[in-house]
Amino acid sequence: MPAAPAPLGVVLPIRFRVALGDDGELVRDKEWLVAQVERANQIFAPAGVSFVPVGLVALRDRDLDDREDRSRLGRHLERGVVNVFVVRAMRDVDDPTQWRRGVHWRLPWRRERHFVVITSIAPPITLAHELGHFFGNPKHRWVSGNVMSYDAGETPRFDPDQLVRIVAHTRRFLRTRELVTLTRFGELTDSRELPRRWDGVEAPEAEAPGAATSRP
Ligand SMILES: [Zn+2]
Repeated sequence: MPAAPAPLGVVLPIRFRVALGDDGELVRDKEWLVAQVERANQIFAPAGVSFVPVGLVALRDRDLDDREDRSRLGRHLERGVVNVFVVRAMRDVDDPTQWRRGVHWRLPWRRERHFVVITSIAPPITLAHELGHFFGNPKHRWVSGNVMSYDAGETPRFDPDQLVRIVAHTRRFLRTRELVTLTRFGELTDSRELPRRWDGVEAPEAEAPGAATSRP
């Protein structure tokens, strides 16, 4: 197993899009989101990567039943930020009787566009776990106490090899400008270059039957 990498010291912006419940209120409040971010920041600290929310947008998508529902979120994807969606409920796509806490999802027609979804039943560790996937760790690790296991315990952590991948992916995301630092995000927002959506994130018509009528 490799040695832990030198921490990067990078702060990255997160854009939250949060579903509205029947009562018109957000399905989870700001304190809940802050708890998710604080947990992620503790767990990512050895990589020297931290996250700051840059504003919260209401989301009309509320419950995600299938692959198409997840992929339809792609139309919201913004440049430069980690896109995180908070929905009320999400079914497992392989076993629809099961409800998921979160997922890291790639657009099938544009695999390099990816994002995180967490649901209202997510415990505080879920954002950190899904960000672990986002930053280059697709696999689970069946070791008690590891954030990428389902038995993360009280003090979840990444192993050194996982931290190496997080650092490498952060560098790559910054180099390709998929992500920008929080400071750069502020500059680009001031100069009105951001916020801006990615191109090509709308579902192709052939792959999303009915999408044309369900979209506003
Ligand atoms: Zn996972």
